[in-house]
Amino acid sequence: MQLFLRGIVLPFQKGKALERGIENLTPDSVRLPVATDDSVFPLAQLSPDTLKGQGEELCLLDGMPVVSTISGTVEGTLMIHHPLYGPLQCADVLASGSAESRLPIPKEEELTPDAIIEIARQAAVYDELDGIPLWEKLTHWQMTDEDLAPLHSVLVADGTANDVFGSAPWAVLKDQPGMVLYGLQMAAKAIRFTRCHIATMLPKKRRRALKKAVGRANVYIVGDEYPVTVFADKHMETYRIGVQACLALAQAIKQGKRHTHTVVTVAGSALPAPRNFRVPFGTDIDVLLSACQAQGGYRLVLGDAMTGITSEYRHVPLLPGMTTILAMMPRRVRTPGPCIGCGRCADICHAGLLPYEIVRRSENMHYERLQHLSPTACDGCGACSYICPAGRDVAAEVIEAGKTKGTVFLHWGEDDHE
Ligand code: SF4
Ligand code: SF4
Repeated sequence: MQLFLRGIVLPFQKGKALERGIENLTPDSVRLPVATDDSVFPLAQLSPDTLKGQGEELCLLDGMPVVSTISGTVEGTLMIHHPLYGPLQCADVLASGSAESRLPIPKEEELTPDAIIEIARQAAVYDELDGIPLWEKLTHWQMTDEDLAPLHSVLVADGTANDVFGSAPWAVLKDQPGMVLYGLQMAAKAIRFTRCHIATMLPKKRRRALKKAVGRANVYIVGDEYPVTVFADKHMETYRIGVQACLALAQAIKQGKRHTHTVVTVAGSALPAPRNFRVPFGTDIDVLLSACQAQGGYRLVLGDAMTGITSEYRHVPLLPGMTTILAMMPRRVRTPGPCIGCGRCADICHAGLLPYEIVRRSENMHYERLQHLSPTACDGCGACSYICPAGRDVAAEVIEAGKTKGTVFLHWGEDDHE
């Protein structure tokens, strides 16, 4: 496999949020998905009006428990259209009391690979890198890489925070480095990997502190180009999970805690004070923006500045996979000009693509020739749009070209000739 070490260096604006440390915020209510379609979930199944402890199971969703992330009572269910996750049937939980539900703590000798995966499932641990349940990933990797694992594979806790504003992984690594390492080692044991490390690009002072806390051999420093594509020494097959998933697995094993909270960075040009909050899943994003005194007239971006999506709707529940929320003041965007053929988009593309050529062929409807340019290898990192001097959204055009799969279907209306 050829590695492309290209990319861009972004102007990090993480400092202010990191200086404040992680602040705990408890909302008055949370909204938790209980079904991922538009069916009406029977409220009776959630035993409404009875006190649920934090971490108590409400129901099962896709084989994993949905747990109450605060101590409270289920008030009802409602349908929402989440900007990132589509239609969701959610339970409305109103905070009251301080009850907590925990899992039994296993003995060290009981921690077999399968037992660790089962704990990840019961504790409802999600990977913040993509919002996928950790037990699903571990199960898949355990089965697919059994033969290669000892020699050629490494499990990486991704603490890179490789975008402009997001600093949640760095804050978690500073706060509980030992627990992150323990969770990573348990995840590695679950898939029978002998190698694992924390990958990060922390500034020097913080890097030294992390190495001191977890041991130099457990830290791998990545380059500071965006996007990071190399998380381990070359020739190693890399598998990644988030540092928060590692922490949640460690807390489940050592303390019996289910995964109820996440650390999220709330930042952007419309906020006087960017912050990192530890909040329960299901917290209304508007509560976080209000806590940061977001000024009016901003655009809400769910996700980081390079790949996030804008949302008109601010009452969005924070769900696994969301670690950065941005409130950005609108700025004048110059009208995109024609491609000047400078080649910068190709120079920085880490996937080794020729974005300008893909766009040109797509615009000229040369769909049959697109396949050879591999537009589907684009991961949407946005680096080409960032660098383009003509102000073109090259990344969006490449992604669009990838969807054609070399074919175009033209619809000529009702044409039902037999
Ligand atoms: S968005 Fe796609 S084409 Fe553009 S730099 Fe990233 S991987 Fe390359
Ligand atoms: S960076 Fe922009 S202007 Fe330059 S070749 Fe790519 S698309 Fe064209």
